[in-house]
Amino acid sequence: MTSTRVIRCGTLFDATGAEPVRDALIVVADGRIEAIGPAAAVTPPPGADVLDLGDRFVMPGLVDCHSHASIVPGLGDQLGQLCRGPVPQALAATANLRRDLGAGTTTMRIMGEEHFLDIELRDAIAAGVVPGPRLLVAGRGLAASNGHGRALHGYDGVDEVRRGARENLRRGANHVKIFITGGVSSPGAMSTSSAYTREELRAAVEEADRAGTYAAAHAHGGAGLRLAVEEGVGTIEHGALADDEDIALMTERGAWLICTFAIFLHPEGIEQGDGRNPVIMDKMRWARRRVDERFPRHLASGVRFACGTDSVHGRMPFELQTLVRLGVSPRDALLAGTRAGAQACRVDAEVGTLERGKRADLIAIEGNPLVDIGAMDRVRLVVKDGAVCGGLPGDDGR
Ligand SMILES: [Zn+2]
Repeated sequence: MTSTRVIRCGTLFDATGAEPVRDALIVVADGRIEAIGPAAAVTPPPGADVLDLGDRFVMPGLVDCHSHASIVPGLGDQLGQLCRGPVPQALAATANLRRDLGAGTTTMRIMGEEHFLDIELRDAIAAGVVPGPRLLVAGRGLAASNGHGRALHGYDGVDEVRRGARENLRRGANHVKIFITGGVSSPGAMSTSSAYTREELRAAVEEADRAGTYAAAHAHGGAGLRLAVEEGVGTIEHGALADDEDIALMTERGAWLICTFAIFLHPEGIEQGDGRNPVIMDKMRWARRRVDERFPRHLASGVRFACGTDSVHGRMPFELQTLVRLGVSPRDALLAGTRAGAQACRVDAEVGTLERGKRADLIAIEGNPLVDIGAMDRVRLVVKDGAVCGGLPGDDGR
């Protein structure tokens, strides 16, 4: 990692809510932003290394709020993938995370892995052993033995849920993930009732809370989603079947909606992997229709929202493009992928905006995504902790 570096930005979008600035400078020291602003107002330290992005649109690195490091949905049978041994899982994860980083994701929240793989990955990335986004991890997802999301372990009853949450937290998980409703990619009807009782769900939320963190719930809508919100989960994952009443309750309680569009809508999502299974394809078409019908209203409702790829690696740009297709302004889509994501994952003191004191995580784009959100597909350079992560000859490799 270089000690001091000056980054010249053609256009700077800092995601604080301020207007974009033409011709800006960012001074980075020891991986953090030391000074930032219009070139005329920032004095670069003498002799500092200059990274010239004068022809680029520079914005914070993207925050993917929901993914799994080891899964590739296009290979099908996602739960089967999760249940493989730790070595194939680790190898798959390193390739996947490299792809995410290259497409602009510098922070990623992992929503369940077996073998505590995500905890090891987080620490290996932080130590510079493998490249990847900064990870926030859950350890094992808590799923009922007969519920969606159950991989190698099921957790039934208040005591097992509590023990599962505590074991994850003991190993160093950042948050607790619990599966409440059914899902699209597993067989069987897509239930919106809760796989867990109120008492079991409450135990997960309590354990997270007592450890100083929060629980995140896989919930598509209906009674299961509402139970999770009533019991105080911080984020609702997916919400593809949420109705207006569900969203109103989330807004009232301050729960975040984590949209995951690519897994349902992108051809590399469930369609590529499990699309030949007519039952899954029917469920997915239904979910797609519901998203297209209801999300324009949900996203305009005032509910807090952010995005995640749910393992469609490298597709955060698609998430933001889908927000725009569903009526969100390009500016608000960029904020959802940066500042809001950091707030939802509770790391906004460190990342999500480009401000003095925060980590120097930023991406350089060819074109202007405020004018054409399609430009998000042209991330030309990724900087994490002030260091270039590939893309330039002679970079320092992180
Ligand atoms: Zn997921």
